[in-house]
Amino acid sequence: MGLANCPECGKLYVENAARVCPECYRKQEDDAEKVVEYLRDVDKATLEEIHEATGVKHKIILRLLRSGRIMGSTISYPCETCGTLIEEGRLCTQCSRNILDQIKMDEIHAEHERNELDISKKIRSRMYGKALDDK
Ligand SMILES: [Zn+2]
Ligand SMILES: [Zn+2]
Repeated sequence: MGLANCPECGKLYVENAARVCPECYRKQEDDAEKVVEYLRDVDKATLEEIHEATGVKHKIILRLLRSGRIMGSTISYPCETCGTLIEEGRLCTQCSRNILDQIKMDEIHAEHERNELDISKKIRSRMYGKALDDK
């Protein structure tokens, strides 16, 4: 336990399980209440619709969704990369595929760099003799 800056409002507060200051925590609970209340009669809604109806921030609605507070209704929200409406995960299928490709590319790139590093080390040790490696 110690002091921390509230990630929501930036105020100093005594750290707690909610990880926000008591004031923001109360506000978040109010917001959660509003969203849950709104969805009680709704089977399907988009993030934008919930936001319009409750005035609760997208970020908070998403957090509720991810923490499992919102259940029984299908919520569509935009893909974090392209904005396509999705119902689970953080990215649409297209973007997750792109990201997987990107990761693969990064791995190939990293592998390539490692090899170059090895080569330059070898060259250096050949140039300066074995002393460099023994250090
Ligand atoms: Zn706060
Ligand atoms: Zn996307």
